[in-house]
Amino acid sequence: MNIFISRPHGYCSGVIRAINLAKKARQKHVGVPVFVLGSIVHNEDVIKELFSFGITTVRDLKKSPAQLLKELPDQAVVVFTAHGHEVSLDEIARQKKMVVYDATCPMVTTNHRIIQNELNNDHQVIYIGKKNHPEANAAKSLGDNVFLIENNEDVNLLELVDKSPLVINQTTLSQTELAALHTSIISKFSKARIADEICNATRLRQQAVLALPKETELVYVIGGVNSSNTASLADMARKTLPQTRVIRILNADEINKKDLDGLNYVAVVSGASTPLETTNRVVEELKRR
Ligand code: SF4
Repeated sequence: MNIFISRPHGYCSGVIRAINLAKKARQKHVGVPVFVLGSIVHNEDVIKELFSFGITTVRDLKKSPAQLLKELPDQAVVVFTAHGHEVSLDEIARQKKMVVYDATCPMVTTNHRIIQNELNNDHQVIYIGKKNHPEANAAKSLGDNVFLIENNEDVNLLELVDKSPLVINQTTLSQTELAALHTSIISKFSKARIADEICNATRLRQQAVLALPKETELVYVIGGVNSSNTASLADMARKTLPQTRVIRILNADEINKKDLDGLNYVAVVSGASTPLETTNRVVEELKRR
């Protein structure tokens, strides 16, 4: 079986930074609990690894991040995730005298600065992102004039007073999905200004998917089930190779050997929050077949 390994793979710089910051917090605050509010990155293997270092991830789908933060002890050591966080959390942490480590990816911070600048100049902002994703929630929290849209239906429903709103996006979206939404937005708001903010790590991985060999019969896309950049890679793979089966897996344990029966060309693609060792283990598993 021919195995094609898409590059780049392994963590992006934002993920490396976030994991290192959480570990630094752990090393510095000996003997006290260290909490991460939400998933540091959307990969369960990474979260398990942090747990093995004594770092607790605080998550509950029924509760908002603000509620979860309020429930933590005063003066707790808290790490905010790579996706960015809602503005209100800073004030809660300040009131509770928490020690905060902010692992927001610098690409996300740049995105927020652009949005804030628009809001300061009385512009409205159309933010293309995934509803309920922490990065989109963080962007939305910057002001009432940030309008989150996810699909064409949202564009149709959107009413703005600004004739030239800024259009910006979550950093990990699929290029094809984004381009289609830009077209819809421009057809409704002809003077809208487009800022394409897909981050480089996401863009390079998507371009690599576009270059997958045409003879590929199966693509494994490795990454967390909630990982937006991994979802975008799977989306791109499905659109680029419509006849090819695309399967998302977290790690080698999720490979179903039956899926490989009779195949000659398999490709392996991995998200920006997928550990390099996980990708290597998937490749080893495929080689064993
Ligand atoms: S995928 Fe992009 S935005 Fe997200 S952490 Fe990596 S570099 Fe930052």
